[in-house]
Amino acid sequence: MDLLREKKLFVMDMDGTIYLGDKVIKGAPEFIQRVRDNNAKVMYFTNNASKNPDLYLEKLHRLGFTAHREEIVTSGDVTVGFLNKHRAGKTVYLMGTPALHETFEKAGIHPVKEGEPADIVVVSFDTTLTYEKLDNACALIRNGAEFLSTHPDINCPIENGFMPDSGAICALVTLSTGVEPRYFGKPNAETAEYIEDYSGIARKDTVMIGDRLYTDIATGKKHGITAAFVLSGEGTMEDVEKLDDSMKPDIIFGSVDDIR
Ligand SMILES: [Mg+2]
Repeated sequence: MDLLREKKLFVMDMDGTIYLGDKVIKGAPEFIQRVRDNNAKVMYFTNNASKNPDLYLEKLHRLGFTAHREEIVTSGDVTVGFLNKHRAGKTVYLMGTPALHETFEKAGIHPVKEGEPADIVVVSFDTTLTYEKLDNACALIRNGAEFLSTHPDINCPIENGFMPDSGAICALVTLSTGVEPRYFGKPNAETAEYIEDYSGIARKDTVMIGDRLYTDIATGKKHGITAAFVLSGEGTMEDVEKLDDSMKPDIIFGSVDDIR
């Protein structure tokens, strides 16, 4: 498979795929340039909906990548895309960071305040979480509000370890209410739908490149997008061997530097 000649959209995972923490993966900025030289589009996709996309833009620029604001997409964008397309006019209570609130507001969704009724509760990776917010989200869900979440990640890797992510916060809400959330972000169907709607490029012309089998590669395998696995991050060849054939990556590289 000749990805550079065949594909029109390259959906890039970031950490583990083009950089590791604050270190650029060798040849990754040049790879992004090769994609552009072939007149294909680039999308940088992260499940982490807690940060302002401008911070990713700044980091990509600092590390030497060409990147434009509209190329950066988070699971928060997928969630607002779903709400505007499938839940128009419904009231939403959002448990998320100020950056995520801004994403909602910019998309025309104005979350209700604490104590106000809501049709939908969206829970995310809220590093500004308080007991009051948790209590409010649970009360709304107990009263019948639909329970959605931007992404299922349980822990967020940081220097020296992990911090509790969206999936862990949702588990607390589920234990209290008995209700499971509907998750967006990778590897869920809404992410593939959003990528196609947002880019205007068909799934067969798209490749998803990432270092995690159960998020990046699963998004592709489950939803008709070519899945390219890189060994520069979390996943290993032993992990690939353990998968069902239907979930194995379509193509495997040592790193993006090998995609020529
Ligand atoms: Mg990754």
